[in-house]
Formats: sequence, structure tokens, C-alpha cells
Amino acid sequence: MKYYSTNHQAPDASLQEAVVKGLASDKGLYMPEVIKSLPQSFYDNIENLSFQEIAYQVADAFFGEDVPADVLKQIVYDTLSFDVPAVQVKENIYSLELFHGPTLAFKDVGGRFMARLLGYFIRKEGQKQVNVLVATSGDTGSAVANGFLGVEGIHVYVLYPKGKVSEIQEKQFTTLGQNITALEVDGTFDDCQALVKNAFMDAELNAHMKLTSANSINVARFLPQAFYYFYAYAQLKKAGKADNLVVCVPSGNFGNITAGLFGKHMGLPVKRFIASNNSNDIFYQYLQTAQYNPRPSIATIANAMDVGDPSNFARILALYNDSHEAICSEISGATYTDEQIRETVLKAYQETGYLLDPHGACGYRALEEGLQEGEVGVFLETAHPAKFLDTVEGIIGQSVEIPSKLQEFMKGTKQSIPMTKDFPSFKAYLMKE
Ligand SMILES: *Cc1c(COP(=O)(O)O)cnc(C)c1O
Repeated sequence: MKYYSTNHQAPDASLQEAVVKGLASDKGLYMPEVIKSLPQSFYDNIENLSFQEIAYQVADAFFGEDVPADVLKQIVYDTLSFDVPAVQVKENIYSLELFHGPTLAFKDVGGRFMARLLGYFIRKEGQKQVNVLVATSGDTGSAVANGFLGVEGIHVYVLYPKGKVSEIQEKQFTTLGQNITALEVDGTFDDCQALVKNAFMDAELNAHMKLTSANSINVARFLPQAFYYFYAYAQLKKAGKADNLVVCVPSGNFGNITAGLFGKHMGLPVKRFIASNNSNDIFYQYLQTAQYNPRPSIATIANAMDVGDPSNFARILALYNDSHEAICSEISGATYTDEQIRETVLKAYQETGYLLDPHGACGYRALEEGLQEGEVGVFLETAHPAKFLDTVEGIIGQSVEIPSKLQEFMKGTKQSIPMTKDFPSFKAYLMKE
């Protein structure tokens, strides 16, 4: 499969090139040249298949030309070592719980898949070690570090701002050891990102070691997110609820929802999508006005959606041939303030006993407000509420049980290397590795 750049100024890439490079040389995002439909027989029988079986069929449509079947199957089955249940919250509203993976958030799926696919490419080429640099403000670092943990041929360096991530987040990437090194930078998230960018541009460093990135624009991180939309459909079909399905996605960089839109283009019978925003409502405004006006993000309690210029917007435009009308025919929007998010977490908990996290709350509320007669809604519960412990406990006025997986991380001993925010010292450190 060839991958083209959304900016159309870079040469087409193979899957391997797209995965290793991440971003095209013209700063565009890679898109597969063809989106294959899955046969009707697959949809007819989907409710009888396991999550892994469904995911493998979808993976085969994306990657089957480029990765041998046995290898791809192994990657899919290893990636999905946990369930993604659709849990009924109300008569017509289901929560697709994406928080049963190692770091209790949906980024585990893409992180684990990308790590295994990159590992395969490295082994195939007999290449020397590849080094993944990732700057994080919290959750990306944990999903990438845990996804790549123990993958041969890859070393991960997580750069994070000292004192600016929560203790739970910090423990998720500083206690792992093996091929994961945490670098505690005396600076901000932007400083961490600048160090990574400088490293990619430094010729001497790149001659010394092979560097790559693992951010969400990478096709190997974003496409596998389509898997669970198909599985959600299968579960609702089994429950006899899939006829007028509406899928609602709490969105920041729009990678997650774009993967779902790919599913729809492959024939997945979803009636329509809702993209739910926090106060960072750039996409919502685009739907209303046809104007795309990025602006600096503002901090909210659904902080993983604090994005002022969603990177995957370019992919959505490409998918719908730049047509605002076509986009509006399949996607509607919603936007909620912190106050409304708090209100929703509390109300849902009191009415149904279901505890939402602040991101999932945006999804749930948009369904409550937007579902029409005869429709069934599923929202993506993108993280476990205990990951936002202080916020959620503050809202419901009760303590929240911390899942054993999170507690295990808390028991580990933090190991990190202190780093200044100056590039020369970061470079000197890497040159000795
Ligand atoms: C990353 C993230 C999101 C946003 O997903 P996008 O793919 O960037 O739209 C939503 N919720 C949580 C918990 C996240 O970690």
C-alpha cells in the first residue's frame, strides 16, 4: 500500500517508510492511497467473532499487503491482550470502555501496535537499534513507554517536565526499566518537545544513532484505533441494538475519531458520528461556520483534549475531499465547559451509578443531548476515572477505588535521569549512549 502526504508535496511512501518517518517531509500526514471495504459476509457474521478476530480482518485490509499474515496476526493478537467491553449505562447509551489496557487509556491500543510493527520492520532489515524519543505532558509517555516495553531492537527515551506531571502518570513511565529511560527535564513540556525536535535535526547525533518519534500522527498508532469501532458494532449487534448506531468520540487531536471514520468508509454500519470537545472547540466551530481557526489551547479538566490545532483535521479533510458539507453530513459536534463536565460526571453517577472520567463525560453528555428517536449511542470512554483521581473525587465527594494495575505502578521505584533543558547537554548524554 502506498501512503500519500496530505500536503501533496512529498513523495509517496511505503508503510515502512511512513511508520519510520511519522510525518512526511512536507509536514503533511500520511494517508493510505486506498481504503478497502470489507465484504458483506464479514458484517453479517461479525457478532460471532472475537475482538482479536475482528481486529485481524481490519488490520489485513490496512496492512495485509505489506506484512506477512502470520506476523500481522501475531502483532494484532499481542496488541489486544485486553477486552474493550461495551457497557450499558442507560436504555440507549453504551460506554465503550477503552481503559482495560496496561495504562488504562485508549492510547494503549495504538502504542502497543506501533511498537510491535516497528519492531518487525527493524528485525526484518537486521537494523541496528532504533531509538524512540517522546516528549510527554503525561499520558502519551505512559502509553508509548508501556507499549514499547520489552520490544527488541528499540530503546525509548521519555522526556517529561519535572514537577509538572501527576505522581500516577510519572510512575507509569519511570518505574519500568528495561528498554525505557525516563529523562526528567528541568523545564516545561514545550522545552521537552524542543529538545526532541532539535535532536531530530542534529546531523551528528543522527549519524551516531537512529532516531524516530512515536507521536499520534504516525499511521501505525492511529489506524489500529479503528479496530474497536468494529468490535463495538459487533457487541451492539449481538444485543440487537445496532440498527441506528451513533458513535460519540471525546476528541482532542482527532486521531481517535478519524480511525472510526475510516471504519465507516470500509462499510461499518454506523449512522453518524459526534465529535465532542471541551472548551477547546475549534472543530465544533468549523462545523458551524466552515472556517477552521486554530488558536492556543486552554487548560481544562479533560486535559488530554486540550488541543488548539487538531493535527488529524488534515486527514478528515482528505477523507471528505475538503467538503464541509460532506463532513457535516456524517459528523456533528458538541462542546462543554468544565462546569458542564463536572455537572455531567455527578449527574450520571447519581442517576446510573456509572462513574465517567472527564473526557468520557463529554461523550456521554453529547449523546444524552443529541440522540434522536430510535437511535442507540455508544461513547468512547477513553480513560479510567481513577487516572483523574482528584478531579473525579472532588466532583462526587467520595473516594474512588484505584484499579490494581494503577496501584502496581504506584509501588514501583521511580528511576529517572535529571536533564537540563539545554540541547548541548541532552545531545552529550545521547552521544554517550
Ligand atoms: C488522547 C486522549 C483523548 C483525545 O484523543 P484524540 O485522538 O487526540 O482526539 C481523549 N481522551 C483521553 C483520555 C486521551 O488520552
